[in-house]
Amino acid sequence: MTTISTNESEKSGGQPPPAVLHAEPDRNCPLCPRLLGFREAARAREPDWFNSPVPSFGDPDARLLIIGLAPGLQGANRTGRPFTGDFAGDLLYATLIEYGFARGVYRARPDDGLRLVDCRISNAVRCVPPQNKPLPAEINTCRTFLSATIAGMPNLRAIVALGRVAHETALKTLGLRSATAPFAHGAMHQAGALKLYDSYHCSRYNTNTRVLTPDMFRSVFAKVKADLAQ
Ligand code: SF4
Repeated sequence: MTTISTNESEKSGGQPPPAVLHAEPDRNCPLCPRLLGFREAARAREPDWFNSPVPSFGDPDARLLIIGLAPGLQGANRTGRPFTGDFAGDLLYATLIEYGFARGVYRARPDDGLRLVDCRISNAVRCVPPQNKPLPAEINTCRTFLSATIAGMPNLRAIVALGRVAHETALKTLGLRSATAPFAHGAMHQAGALKLYDSYHCSRYNTNTRVLTPDMFRSVFAKVKADLAQ
């Protein structure tokens, strides 16, 4: 359990917030009816898959948090570990290993022994959405868990937002405004002592269309690494 952050208090319009928030949703979290239905259909169709809200991966004491969009149907939703088992994980974990934020060999399965180093990975939305597209209401609802995740990381200094949705929900969690902190690949926004870095999402579509090249992705983590070393 995690103590609620100041930003949550501000967002609640001055009303006293609940005393604690859970950083991890229940495996049967009922808060988004559409995603609940999608999840239950997947459980019936693929009973051996994870098919539940995907928990964060990595140590809460880490200084770096990476925020993705949502579990991929046949990636994290199947394996139960963020970015594990689909295309996006190949580039993400290779880059994390290259910059010392992960150790081991990524084999696209949760029992591959890969360990994150001073790094944690979570998602803006914990349940797999149809067509990889969560609705605004679902992003808003699941921010409860992202806020608690962030509040439960006492050493957090850097957040990398993968894509616009992760950027926007991170801004709301941190109390920043889009007008003063617009999304741009490679941008860094200061939120008190915390730095928020933007990257295009490392999806198959973005890499196939060269919206994001491996070098562009590496440059974000090179900057994070350098800043954390200061
Ligand atoms: S997306 Fe988040 S809030 Fe919505 S049902 Fe899943 S875990 Fe619950």
